[in-house]
Amino acid sequence: MSETLSPELLSALATAAATDHLLVALDFDGTMSPLVDRAEDARALPGSTAALRELAQIPRTTTALISGRALDSLRLVASPEPETLLIGSHGAETWTGPDGAPLELTESQASILRRATAAVQDVVDAHPGTVLELKPAGVVLHTRTADQGTGKAATAAARDALASLEDLHLSDGKNVLELSVVQADKGRGLQSLRELTNATAVIFAGDDVTDEHAFKTLKAPDVGIKVGEGETAALYRITSPEQLVHVLQELVTFRRAGASA
Ligand SMILES: [Mg+2]
Repeated sequence: MSETLSPELLSALATAAATDHLLVALDFDGTMSPLVDRAEDARALPGSTAALRELAQIPRTTTALISGRALDSLRLVASPEPETLLIGSHGAETWTGPDGAPLELTESQASILRRATAAVQDVVDAHPGTVLELKPAGVVLHTRTADQGTGKAATAAARDALASLEDLHLSDGKNVLELSVVQADKGRGLQSLRELTNATAVIFAGDDVTDEHAFKTLKAPDVGIKVGEGETAALYRITSPEQLVHVLQELVTFRRAGASA
């Protein structure tokens, strides 16, 4: 039953919700939103959006999205509330309010990015169904819409072509190869939000291998929730984005009870 949460998870949520300042940070694709073939079609489940909005209105409670997407792309699909903090490009981009500094690349980073983009474009041209996505600090090879063999060949070809480029950071996700000229990961991104907000407990949920960096930064009373299958450092697991709706609704209830106590 997708709506049933384990007693252990419920108990961990209740403990975290009783903290002084709670940070609720969530991955977007595959976590807030079911996975889709075309990135621009992704939308959060309405129940999760509603619960996140309610959480943001509770005193001493901060909400955030931590995504691999570029910030512009994240804003487009997530339509976040203005009080929701945003981390994009796995941490290379952050939006923490109007005073936050925008990302600026050095000349050398911009030059590496141009060369990496040209190399990935060659790979995409030679492998039907693969797609290039340009980000402010990186370039992504998407293979979800290619057949499996072509996708694997494209990923290998890109790794080959990029091997000689120094100061380029590669990371694998589900059917994506991410290349960034800024050293960033979701763990660093989450850590920066924790410090910025002075959070005394963090709830983080994510579905992909890139979320593991964030799970590894958690310690009690934090709660890490892996969505779906696969190895994880998270202590708790749910089956789907649909189940996350229930997690967030329970969290609203626990946190409201704490805030009024
Ligand atoms: Mg995800």
